[in-house]
Amino acid sequence: MNASFCPPDGVIEFLEGYQKFLVFGHVEPDADCVASQLVLSSFFRRRGKEVMIFSEGPFDRPEIIAYEQRFRKRIEDSNLKGDPAALILDCSTADRIGSMEKRIQGLPVLVVDHHAAGEDFGDVRWVDPRAPSVTFLIQHLIEAYLDRPTPGEAGLLLFGLARDTGFFRHLVENSGFVFEAVSRLVDIGASPRETYRMIHSGWELAKAKLLALSLQRVESELKGKVLITYQSLEDLHSLGSKAARGSDEVYRILQAVRGVEVVAFIQEEERDRCSVGLRSNGEYDVGTLARSMGGGGHTLAAGYTVAGSVPVVHSQLLAALKHLVKS
Ligand code: 5GP
Ligand code: MN
Repeated sequence: MNASFCPPDGVIEFLEGYQKFLVFGHVEPDADCVASQLVLSSFFRRRGKEVMIFSEGPFDRPEIIAYEQRFRKRIEDSNLKGDPAALILDCSTADRIGSMEKRIQGLPVLVVDHHAAGEDFGDVRWVDPRAPSVTFLIQHLIEAYLDRPTPGEAGLLLFGLARDTGFFRHLVENSGFVFEAVSRLVDIGASPRETYRMIHSGWELAKAKLLALSLQRVESELKGKVLITYQSLEDLHSLGSKAARGSDEVYRILQAVRGVEVVAFIQEEERDRCSVGLRSNGEYDVGTLARSMGGGGHTLAAGYTVAGSVPVVHSQLLAALKHLVKS
């Protein structure tokens, strides 16, 4: 294990202080969040603790749909019995937990996260922006206990890490420590080939068609530095699909376009409410832009959700992007 990723003082002491954990991730969970919750609960159950995992969803990314039934959607009064502690994963702000945030007020809280900026919440915080994923921190937690992941846990840890790093393509120089950690997971039984299939499979055909539509209607702004596209509820409806996020593939293709610095993807979530996803090729910090709109994220990958129709959100976004590109 890489000693510099050992949990800081207070983390193990916190975890040893409780026999029961309620584990939370963020709303609209992704593979990193889901895998971190699943592995943490598996690990502490092996150590004889009582662990419950919660997520209000929605589980609409195809690669995590299969795990949905393992999560509780709400906190029952009985779940709060037995003096549990709350473990909050991959959330840079408390409200990312969703509506269950109110129900855990008063519980002791440990936060494990890898976002560079956010809100200072929780009693004990293990926040390390050098970590490529929260699963990477969970792996180091297990190793700090002088234990190792089971083959099943190793597979999930690689799944979260591979998803958050875009299958390693977001990693930069001097990231050898990530590959060392991956090497240990693969030797335990995690399979890169299987992981790739876990991430890139299970699509509805409608998702491929929506992807084509999003690519076709993309608009080039600010001398080609910015590409903006969207998906509306009507699109989903007309293709007979409930939830067909294809944003990652859209980014992958549009970020390859010559001269492009920023790609924005607007998704109409409900009437007059849109989420906006942002990716930067390196020159501009989209994390700061997303935070200024009430969202968050990383320098090169960030997002926010706002009220408004697609055209309204689009023009607000374009104004903010103009400002970003000029500054
Ligand atoms: P994605 O575009 O993949 O949904 O999100 C990219 C990153 O942006 C995520 O890892 C997350 O950190 C951040 N992000 C996206 N949407 C939101 C949001 O509404 N609020 C916050 N705080 N962060 C977000
Ligand atoms: Mn993450």
